[in-house]
Amino acid sequence: MSDAPALLPVEEARARILGLCTPLPTEWVPGDDALGRALAEDVLARRTLPPWDNSAMDGYAVRGGDLTGPLPVRLTVGETVFAGRRPTREVVPGTCARIMTGAPLPPGADAVVMRERTRTLAGALDAVEILEAAGPGNFVRPRGEDAKEGDVLLRRGTPLGIPELGLLWAQGQGTVPVPRRPRVAVLSTGDELCRVDEPPGDGIVDINAPTLALAVRRAGGVPTLLGIARDTREAVQEALARTEGFDVVLTSAGVSVGDHDFVKDALEALGVEQRFWRVAIKPGKPLVVGQRGATLFMGLPGNPTSSLVTFELFVRPALRRLLGHADVEPPRVAGRLEGKLSKAPGLAHFVRVTATWRAGELWARPLGTQTSGALRSAAAATHLLHFPRDTSSLTDGSHVELVPLSWVA
Ligand code: AMP
Ligand code: MG
Repeated sequence: MSDAPALLPVEEARARILGLCTPLPTEWVPGDDALGRALAEDVLARRTLPPWDNSAMDGYAVRGGDLTGPLPVRLTVGETVFAGRRPTREVVPGTCARIMTGAPLPPGADAVVMRERTRTLAGALDAVEILEAAGPGNFVRPRGEDAKEGDVLLRRGTPLGIPELGLLWAQGQGTVPVPRRPRVAVLSTGDELCRVDEPPGDGIVDINAPTLALAVRRAGGVPTLLGIARDTREAVQEALARTEGFDVVLTSAGVSVGDHDFVKDALEALGVEQRFWRVAIKPGKPLVVGQRGATLFMGLPGNPTSSLVTFELFVRPALRRLLGHADVEPPRVAGRLEGKLSKAPGLAHFVRVTATWRAGELWARPLGTQTSGALRSAAAATHLLHFPRDTSSLTDGSHVELVPLSWVA
């Protein structure tokens, strides 16, 4: 029997971690560098866009009232209006203007008929036959459809995707306020580890540092590799003492109950206050979380798959909170289980699955190997299937919750 504290449910562990994180100070960056980040403040529209009613089609700007009788209706064409030019004449009854997509609607006109619904008349260049009626607003893009000056264009916490950045650029806004990127230190621990460019001898290559660093970068953080600390209290402590100025420190391995598991002791010796240790989850049970000043310490388990799964479920949400995202929880989608699963109650399992769309549903097939030591089991996974803590069996076709993985290519 161990004297370890009770295991925290996954949701509570995540809530406690998020409670330790607040968005980092704001920096103004060019839009390119803001992609995928979240706004640090509400952005108001400086411009009304489009600035005028304009045509959604190449065609003819008309008065809808001219087209209420029998069709076709013959109208006199007053002028041609191009995008980027201003109309010069009013469209009076019995007339229209040729108009191109994006050109401002001339005064008097209230609708557009697309060119395909008209017929030009041989020998009568200034006339057109309209074949179809057009109610007010037909194919007109109204002024202010994209933005109205002074209105909130995008709210704080909104992630900046490509169209969001387009909206800001349309406003003439080239730089964007976002929380600065978290600085994340990554430390591997273990006597058996060597760098990828070293011969492993009796040991193994340190996979966690480079994979976690990539995961950090993909989540929007800036990773710094601190190298490998050997399995002594002093070595781990010395490495962790070099973490001043980091927002988050990730360690891997050495957090379990093995004879050489010194991460918890080293954190304590450095004055890091432990917030919790161990979560009711598989893989990833030995996760330890602590805090010193503004630095969050997260001791991830050593098995490469466990460290990636805990990254996904606990570290990534923390980084997203630091990056100011309104929505920080791991994403979830509904799916069906292909096959069946069973386990003892007590731990929530996050089963690596390959999910494919079939007959209108997402079907999740558990990968053959689920041991956390085998990285192969993470390699083909597209989602994690949440097998709840107190459930012991899931039958074929069960409705399940799937977490899309951020680590897929
Ligand atoms: P530990 O928590 O130290 O007992 O480590 C658990 C397992 O993860 C052991 O099999 C370790 O060899 C393995 N492991 C620990 N760190 C790494 C790493 N950085 N890269 C690959 N495997 C690791
Ligand atoms: Mg170890």
